[in-house]
Amino acid sequence: MPLSPEQQSEIDALRAQSTQTLRATVEGMEAHLYKAHEVLDHGFVRVIDYMGDDAAICQAARVSYGKGTKSVQNDEGLIRYLMRHWHSTPFEMCEIKLHVKLPVFVARQWIRHRTANVNEYSARYSILDREFYIPAEDALAAQSVVNNQGRGEALTGDEAQRVLNYLRDDAMRCYDHYEEMISQDGQAGLARELARMNLPANVYTQWYWKVDLHNLFHFLRLRADAHAQYEIRVYADAICEMVKDWVPAAYKAFEDYRMGGATLSATALGCIQRMLKGEEVTQENSGMSKGEWREFMGVLKGAS
Ligand SMILES: Cc1cc2nc3c(=O)[nH]c(=O)nc-3n(C[C@H](O)[C@H](O)[C@H](O)COP(=O)(O)OP(=O)(O)OC[C@H]3O[C@@H](n4cnc5c(N)ncnc54)[C@H](O)[C@@H]3O)c2cc1C
Repeated sequence: MPLSPEQQSEIDALRAQSTQTLRATVEGMEAHLYKAHEVLDHGFVRVIDYMGDDAAICQAARVSYGKGTKSVQNDEGLIRYLMRHWHSTPFEMCEIKLHVKLPVFVARQWIRHRTANVNEYSARYSILDREFYIPAEDALAAQSVVNNQGRGEALTGDEAQRVLNYLRDDAMRCYDHYEEMISQDGQAGLARELARMNLPANVYTQWYWKVDLHNLFHFLRLRADAHAQYEIRVYADAICEMVKDWVPAAYKAFEDYRMGGATLSATALGCIQRMLKGEEVTQENSGMSKGEWREFMGVLKGAS
């Protein structure tokens, strides 16, 4: 269970109180505030705070004295223009602070996104919980035979059971030893900062993660993408749902230009121009490698 009853009642208490403010608030985001959205078997992501809305993006772009809003249509057009032309700083005026509980191996991928502010649970100071990510049966995938950095079909039968048993048993054994080593019952007890090295990478950690909307979109573009590892993608997907409710116009533009759009090289554009003139363009006469051509065809034909 991602939250204990005590943690849930702290969240409920926060949601039961409200404060009047002159600042911009967004109804859709207020509905998410503090609530834990469950991810994987013990993880979650929840919004702790946010600043700004779609209007704040327009306000910054127009360096306005008032709200910066003209009409919804006008604002949407401006936001689409900003997104299309990589005029990114107005998006940096919106910020979000998340509380995330995630396995350590997912945190290692996540932390590569350097343009955020992070504060992680201290396993030097505190004792980690006995919580490990054990994939659901359909996520217990075999190594991909076509992509070294990917996975294939789910394991089945005895192999699946054996792997699950290893994952569970090894995690429990490591945690038993962790507890035994830090125990001060009749012994000095190993420092927590050392004992933690015995825990596998599927142990859960937690952090507060604060980022502006421009850099969040960059994170989501990479991690909500089909090429991202499933275990981080599910967190990115959950965040997408929140962002959609927070800044609907900006999210729509992001979906259109970034998630659903594609970047083409000058060579690829040249090929499209030649195709439009009726020329038969093949990989051999395209000037592209086989890999580039495959991806280019994927873009044109709608495959990933
Ligand atoms: C599918 C996938 C596979 C990956 N595989 C690997 C892998 O095998 N090995 C591996 O090590 N990593 C891997 N990564 C991580 C990847 O290389 C990036 O480190 C990660 O996605 C963070 O991207 P970023 O640096 O653009 O993000 P951020 O750190 O958030 O930075 C955002 C942008 O800010 C700028 N920026 C930030 N810091 C600096 C800086 N110090 N100097 C210059 N510009 C800066 C850059 O323009 C950057 O794009 C993978 C990522 C993905 C999505």
